[in-house]
Amino acid sequence: MSSVVSYEIINNIGVIKVNNPPVNALSQAVREGILKAVQAAQNDSSEAIVLLCEGRTFIAGADITEFGKPPMAPSLPEVLGAIESSSKLVIAAIHGTALGGGFEVSLACHYRCAVPSAKVGLPEVKLGILPGAGGTQRVPRVAGVKAALEMITSGDPISAKKAGEMGLIDEVLGSEDLQKEALAYARELVNSGAKLKRIRDINIDPATIEPGFFDNYRKQVAKRARGQIAQDRIVSCVEAAVGQPIDAGLEVERKMFMELVSSPQSKAMRHAFFAEREAAKIKDLPKDTAVRDIKKVAIIGSGTMGGGIAMCFANVGIPVKLVELSAEALERGLGVIRKNYSITVQKGKLSEADMEKRVGLITGTTSYDDIGDVDLVIEAVFENPDVKKEVFGKLDAVCKPGCILATNTSYQDVNMIAEATKRPQDVVGMHFFSPANVMKLLEVVRGDKTAHDVLATVMQIGKKIGKVCVLSRVCYGFIGNRMLAGYGRQAHMLLLDGATPTQVDSAAEKFGMAMGPLAVGDLAGLDIGYKARQALTDVVHDPKTHCVASALVEMGRLGQKSGAGYYKYDPATRARQPDPEVDELIKQKAAELGISRREISEEEIIDRLFFPLINEGARILEEGIAQRPGDIDIVYLYGYGFPVAKGGPMCYADQVGLKKVVDRIVEFGEKLGKDYWEPAPLLVRLANEGKTFADWAKENA
Ligand code: NAD
Repeated sequence: MSSVVSYEIINNIGVIKVNNPPVNALSQAVREGILKAVQAAQNDSSEAIVLLCEGRTFIAGADITEFGKPPMAPSLPEVLGAIESSSKLVIAAIHGTALGGGFEVSLACHYRCAVPSAKVGLPEVKLGILPGAGGTQRVPRVAGVKAALEMITSGDPISAKKAGEMGLIDEVLGSEDLQKEALAYARELVNSGAKLKRIRDINIDPATIEPGFFDNYRKQVAKRARGQIAQDRIVSCVEAAVGQPIDAGLEVERKMFMELVSSPQSKAMRHAFFAEREAAKIKDLPKDTAVRDIKKVAIIGSGTMGGGIAMCFANVGIPVKLVELSAEALERGLGVIRKNYSITVQKGKLSEADMEKRVGLITGTTSYDDIGDVDLVIEAVFENPDVKKEVFGKLDAVCKPGCILATNTSYQDVNMIAEATKRPQDVVGMHFFSPANVMKLLEVVRGDKTAHDVLATVMQIGKKIGKVCVLSRVCYGFIGNRMLAGYGRQAHMLLLDGATPTQVDSAAEKFGMAMGPLAVGDLAGLDIGYKARQALTDVVHDPKTHCVASALVEMGRLGQKSGAGYYKYDPATRARQPDPEVDELIKQKAAELGISRREISEEEIIDRLFFPLINEGARILEEGIAQRPGDIDIVYLYGYGFPVAKGGPMCYADQVGLKKVVDRIVEFGEKLGKDYWEPAPLLVRLANEGKTFADWAKENA
């Protein structure tokens, strides 16, 4: 057939096997191979046809490297047409994950069977597109409109068992022996005279859909879509599956698929997909760098971060020793961990037994002598350089040679911390985000002397505990928090210049941020920044950048935890409400600083919040703090709630156009003063050359 698809007859059943490692993606050669095999099988001695895959999975989706390139025949719909109109039964036999185009191939088959461990799903929405080969038409015909919408708008895969209950799988096989079980199932179908079941022939009766159902669903998905358009188009496609022949619905699906695939959103989401994979690679590290074995871990400090980090390791079965100053602090920390796990149990997402297993892996001590045998230590004590240095001195004394010594510091100089030991090559930053057991980002901070194998090990263990790792060099705040400074500063200055907290946060949320900057401050607690500012006695703070926040803290308004901050919070629902008292405070502070407040447009809010991120990102790139613009994007997508539909701040800059970004920064400099509005040299150079950050990434790969 072709190098990636084979065909043979076994016991009178034609067996088409796809073998296109690693995930049997639907490349042109795979499409052509399947088409030819189905055609050949029409005229041979086979009584039915089984389609299955070699390797670790059934077809796991389209070949996304073909996106954006001219289409190559045969198209997927053509292949599906040939399968569906086959005169002999075609049975898909699924193992691993049948995703996207792969699952759509199976839906064109007359029957689907799957081994018990298999999963199926339509994850296209996660790349800003929709299933473009009949998924939106065939799933509702089998599983019903509501179940189809849930499956396709979430993009989450489902188990073979669930798919069986929904009718999407006809037979969950008795064992994991795919070929044997599938051939037996095919034989059974042939012997029982099973009919050619074509999903396309099913009609969805409009009378079965409540009036207004689709409009309501559209509103519901819009709330969680954060500006993504694909969800809305999916609803339209499923709506088009109701009460009309499938070809009419397929036409709608094709049209909307084409619209989405060329949309900036989908381009941004594909960028994010590739950037995430790329971020895992450290440019100057030899591929074969050996990694150290991590079997036991110690965490120093069981506060907000230490507890969450301990959970990350316990979740993957790695035992953790928590080191604290006192028995009381330890008890408190362990108590919070247990409470967090029990919330997950209450939600039905973890069994009691698994919770006990995980809690059992975390033990406490107040003596550093108990951690001499661990392979990795992560320090999460108070953010104070002297305390950190003291802790690393102790670690140096007790830890075995080769143990990796990591710090979770948000701002401190990792090189300085490393120098507190006699083994700076073993010291590295592992900057988790709060809540550490939930947030996916891990900034891996490379000190000047950090050894290659330490970096490779930390990137690997980070992945093992479910994090997306991004490498950063040492600077104040590393990649994420260093960039955030300008964003937070502008949020505050916009208030003084005339915006209300609601205006600032709503604009950011309309842009797609999970939460606006001031609301985030209220959630985290305004006292955290307040204390940090007080601790930095040698830094002169610009009063324009913190006076409202500081005044709020001094009024006892610490944010959500005290029921009020930039907003008032409803004690029952935690819903935020604007507070006239805050509006008054802002006016008063602006007057004290001699600022005359004015109307601020939404466009100004967006540009003043997000262009500083881009500008600082450009500096970070130029200084070699981040390896690539895509790494910066991943930091923002996974650590700061930046909307994936915009691909991250650097991708967003490319889509806006770097010239426009520079012009606007210059304009703000003229209007607002140059203190915070000097365009970064790299940004200016790229804009002048008509280039993008993506071009820079290619040139510096
Ligand atoms: P925290 O105050 O909640 O916890 C610190 C814990 O460390 C306390 O329980 C304290 O008893 C313990 N501790 C202090 N000195 C110790 C010592 N010598 N030995 C053992 N235990 C000691 O602080 P946190 O918010 O968890 O922050 C910890 C670190 O993580 C800081 O460096 C911080 O910058 C960083 N960080 C915090 C966040 C966040 O959002 N909270 C996010 C990322 C990184």
